[in-house]
Amino acid sequence: MTENQLLKIAQDFGSPVYVYDAEKIEGQYKRLTNAFKSVKSLKINYAVKALSNISVLKLLNSLGSGIDTVSIQEVQLGLAAGFTPEQIIFTPNGVSLDEIEEAAKLGVKINIDNLSILEQFGTKHPDIPVCIRINPHVMAGGNAKISVGHIDSKFGISIHQIPHILRIVENTSMTINGIHMHTGSDILDIEVFLYASEILFETAKQFKNLDFIDFGSGFKVPYKAGDIETNIEELGKKLSARFNAFCKEYGKELTLAFEPGKFLVSESGHFLVQVNAVKQTTSTVFAQVDSGFNHLIRPMFYGSHHDIVNISNPKGRERFYTVVGYICETDTFGSNRRINEISEGDVLCFKNTGAYCFSMASNYNSRYRPAEVLWYKNKAHLIRRRETFDDIIKNQIEVDFTSKKEKELVK
Ligand SMILES: *Cc1c(COP(=O)(O)O)cnc(C)c1O
Repeated sequence: MTENQLLKIAQDFGSPVYVYDAEKIEGQYKRLTNAFKSVKSLKINYAVKALSNISVLKLLNSLGSGIDTVSIQEVQLGLAAGFTPEQIIFTPNGVSLDEIEEAAKLGVKINIDNLSILEQFGTKHPDIPVCIRINPHVMAGGNAKISVGHIDSKFGISIHQIPHILRIVENTSMTINGIHMHTGSDILDIEVFLYASEILFETAKQFKNLDFIDFGSGFKVPYKAGDIETNIEELGKKLSARFNAFCKEYGKELTLAFEPGKFLVSESGHFLVQVNAVKQTTSTVFAQVDSGFNHLIRPMFYGSHHDIVNISNPKGRERFYTVVGYICETDTFGSNRRINEISEGDVLCFKNTGAYCFSMASNYNSRYRPAEVLWYKNKAHLIRRRETFDDIIKNQIEVDFTSKKEKELVK
């Protein structure tokens, strides 16, 4: 998308607004499927939590993707978007048996990551096959906040507990149809990922009725110049060969599944905000924008970097700015950024804001969540209206403290 197209969207739809480029999502989907084209049965299950707008889900459905869901609401959203239950896998963590049973009733694939739930589910529903989430205890990437395969992680059933899983399976006569891992959000080193995959293959040999092996996600996208990006093409070459060899050994054509979120949608996203004020202090120049961590929390929550560009003045002289929000709280989007000269009223664009941006937005400070626009075939489609005051107030219930009865209660 060009800066002019983005600027026009900010003018037409107002700010703040999230804009997603459908072509980029499609391109990433094709890149991934192409990297694994030598695998006969490949399934990409888009991780809904990254960006859960129903039109984005429909776009991914039209490309042939399935979805990975982590709550019963995401399952319902997927069904509403037109996915069949077979195209949906439910991979929750820490949810109740009730919620898993509700998902099973809808006919979606079930992925269980806890021995207690596995035993209860298997005892009650031995005829419903389930997938198990394994923790291979491999540390992916360097950031412990987003690494979920290591020893102290709450995710998955430890690789050391396989004998216990086998006992549960035998005692309940349940069927394990898939095994899964999701080691975290940063595959920087393909060899580390392949190492974890070997652990998964070893585990797979112990289960005789598998249909698929799910390698989760963790594909890294570059957020700034010089960032390492997962080399999908190389991973595709190496893992496909290994997977095909494993299927021969196993004696069955299994499905290779992935569940990327960030890789598919992150780079498609542009978050457009307007500069309310430029404020000089003794040490810095602040650009204060009409947003905050209520709309984009990744910089404050994870220390993530998002490039910030002044699309209203792309040829202006570069100066240093600290870009902050309008929330009554420290909400720094970026410190000491070199940005083309900013005037009040300019529109700034945060790059790479497709994943875990809108989906983590809140109403903090009683602000509205932004509008969302999908750029599809050279046209801007509004896919979520900006909230209004009615959205802020609609579930709130007023107590009338002036009535006699309430006065009694307060006493
Ligand atoms: C969040 C999540 C993903 C997606 O991770 P990305 O880093 O966005 O690709 C995949 N699988 C599971 C189980 C998840 O919880």
